[in-house]
Amino acid sequence: MKPKLAIVSLGCDKNRVNTEKMLSQISDLVTFSSSEDAEYVFINTCGFLESARQELFEILDSFRPEQKLILAGCFWKFADEGFYARFPNVISFLKDGDDIRKIVTDLAGARYIARPQKQLGNTIFLTPPSYAFLKVSEGCDNHCTFCIIPQLRGKYHSRKIEEILEDAKVYLERGVKELILVAQDVGNYGADLDLALVCLLREIEKLPVEWIRLLYLYPERISDELLSFIAKSKKVLPYFDMPLQHAADSVLRRMGRPYKKAEIVNLLGKIRAKLPEAVIRSTFIVGFPGETAADFEELKTFLKSQKLNHVGVFGYSDEELCSAYKLKDKVEQKTIQKREKEIMELQKKISAEHLAKFVGKEIRVLIDGNPEEGVYIGRNFYFAPEVDGALYFNSGLQPAAIGEIVKVQITEAGEYDLFGEISS
Ligand code: SF4
Repeated sequence: MKPKLAIVSLGCDKNRVNTEKMLSQISDLVTFSSSEDAEYVFINTCGFLESARQELFEILDSFRPEQKLILAGCFWKFADEGFYARFPNVISFLKDGDDIRKIVTDLAGARYIARPQKQLGNTIFLTPPSYAFLKVSEGCDNHCTFCIIPQLRGKYHSRKIEEILEDAKVYLERGVKELILVAQDVGNYGADLDLALVCLLREIEKLPVEWIRLLYLYPERISDELLSFIAKSKKVLPYFDMPLQHAADSVLRRMGRPYKKAEIVNLLGKIRAKLPEAVIRSTFIVGFPGETAADFEELKTFLKSQKLNHVGVFGYSDEELCSAYKLKDKVEQKTIQKREKEIMELQKKISAEHLAKFVGKEIRVLIDGNPEEGVYIGRNFYFAPEVDGALYFNSGLQPAAIGEIVKVQITEAGEYDLFGEISS
């Protein structure tokens, strides 16, 4: 009888890709089951913020003592003796490169059998069949003072183009229409292989994919070459997920970000000049040590003038392993929360302004979900999955399916979402 195994994948989309890959290695050895019924639970952990580590403890506490827990992921750095004493049912913590198949066969007391040839690609998918995340590299060479990811994931190393194309083909065979390139720093792809991101994009473009989306573009890496490539491409979306973190030069300097506000403004101008329909997503940290009221005002002024399409904002998390931890002038928690709220309120209006421009238009929509009969959830190039809003539409009597691209007439716009009717 195959052991029953449940899956918990925490953290970022890179971690989710790792979960898919690891579980695809054992999909013929186990029966995937609910957490309730499972003998074993595989948990791919996140560890980069205190809040993520607390979330993990709550999840580990939710399992019964007799359920055996197999862990992997970024929490490895914090898994000390005290941790194992607190969670004695954690029976294994996989490090990168460990053979999960060997571990599961050992645990099940079974004989090790190599994976059937025909099952070499992914067989486990953790996204709807409309889109998939394509991890292009691991690690990071940047030194942002608020971030421990380089300590958790190591130095930047690009995956080989052939490997990435192999993954892409498996996803496309599944019917995926949109491939989303992810890494800590997608723009740095190939730097360690004497290649550039456009080399990879050129190859992916040759595949039968509709949309190619780039996430995690470090501002410094958005070159003229990349902009020209996207401007000419029929498949790479004019969507720029570019974490800027702040807009006040003094804060950027203390964050270890190698650019100034003037350079960001210049870059945004260049992107919009080359790609008038460009969609800009960014994330910001408020409450960084030493952030003054004037710095915060500067960030608000920047957001009001630049009118970015999508903005995520996070309160600074004082992480002991980060160099920012040693900085003086820590900002009070209630001030951090107040500033976070202010940015959200400000951005809500800007987001609504952008979305209102779609009303009355007919747009191509990729269907991600079908929550109830005749009602669908989808996205066009304007929305990245899971982080941005979405588009809700009725199909009337017309049949439609997840993974299909249909035309939708936009009838209404909200603060984050669009609403419409299928047109063909
Ligand atoms: S770019 Fe900065 S924030 Fe992003 S993973 Fe690297 S060090 Fe962390």
